[in-house]
Amino acid sequence: MFKLLHPASKHLNIQAHFRYIPRRLLSMSLTSPDAFSVEKQVAIAAVRRACLVTCTVFNQLVRDRTDTLEKEDESPVTVGDYAAQAVINTILRNAFPEDPIVGEEGADALRQVSNTRLRERVVSLATNALQEDLIDGEKAQWGLVLNTNEGNDKGGPNKRMWTVDPIDGTKGFLRGGQYAVCLSLIVNSQVVLGVIGCPNIQIHPANPDEGKGCIFVAVRGQGAFQIALSGTGAIKLPYFLPEKSYVLQSEELKHTNIPLIRRVSDELHLTEWGMDSQAKYCCLARGEGAVYLRMPASTVGGKRPYEERIWDHAPGSILVEEAGGKITDSEGAPLRFGLGRGMGENRGFVATVDEELHGRVVSAIKRAQFTEHAENTPQR
Ligand code: AMP
Ligand code: MG
Repeated sequence: MFKLLHPASKHLNIQAHFRYIPRRLLSMSLTSPDAFSVEKQVAIAAVRRACLVTCTVFNQLVRDRTDTLEKEDESPVTVGDYAAQAVINTILRNAFPEDPIVGEEGADALRQVSNTRLRERVVSLATNALQEDLIDGEKAQWGLVLNTNEGNDKGGPNKRMWTVDPIDGTKGFLRGGQYAVCLSLIVNSQVVLGVIGCPNIQIHPANPDEGKGCIFVAVRGQGAFQIALSGTGAIKLPYFLPEKSYVLQSEELKHTNIPLIRRVSDELHLTEWGMDSQAKYCCLARGEGAVYLRMPASTVGGKRPYEERIWDHAPGSILVEEAGGKITDSEGAPLRFGLGRGMGENRGFVATVDEELHGRVVSAIKRAQFTEHAENTPQR
């Protein structure tokens, strides 16, 4: 188990930030060079503590166990999701009580009498994570937030709001593969801060001896960084130059159009690399891949196309941009984070390490879509 707060993390000056911070003192603009510094420290602490929960749940309920995976009320995903979200919401609520939170998980199920066991587990895990390794100035009593409506904000433009995805990539989490604890701050439809915790990402891509567990952090206009889950070793992104050019894509076949991505990769001589969760954005931002491509899966049979959710892309998108990359939807349009919980017509995403490559990928997608369409249209 990683140490939650390494002594070096005191340099982050976390102490002052767990008290209630009046709204008038919070950043709404990007003009100051240290804009959102308070929010950044709170978000890093929240993500780090939520990662402690997900690692504990994995070790207790997933590793070497198959008996709990099938039961809905004891599923590690259910327990981990609720507990990690409770930790993040509690910390945000303490520091920024007026900020709405947009997240996937409602806590309705926790209220049901039949879920007493689940509730007790969640409370115990979250309480432990909130109280372990306290440093000066952190609270011993946080007043755990298990509010039913917490996280259910509808999103929208002209507001300051947080997005939370406590376990992004649930399949990866269960496999012991990649998953991500994701937090972002959106102000007036623009993502200004993204923090992503990836307990299973290697600290150095080429050196397994350095161990696993990273937090990725980006603030608009201030660059992107990777720190270890222990809180040490901030490295500016990108920092790794791969020999091969990889195209990152979903591991989950239902989430993306794999054949179309294959056409694009073949044309651009890219090697496909499947991975769960927003860890894909993190690998791209640090230079491990050239492109992250997400294309809407086929809607054959009249199925409505899936509408992407803001919490699945807000943190990752700012990370890529602040690392010097570019992200748009698959038609080259900007991503829209002010429409509500969903992203409307932003279907499919193209993220690249540089601008020139981005243009080439968008053009290749058009050609691939044309070919796909021609092949699927019956000949007369
Ligand atoms: P990934 O691991 O990149 O495939 O993405 C995981 C995220 O995909 C989850 O957090 C879901 O919110 C989202 N998701 C769920 N269903 C779909 C779908 N049909 N198409 C695209 N994304 C989806
Ligand atoms: Mg998600």
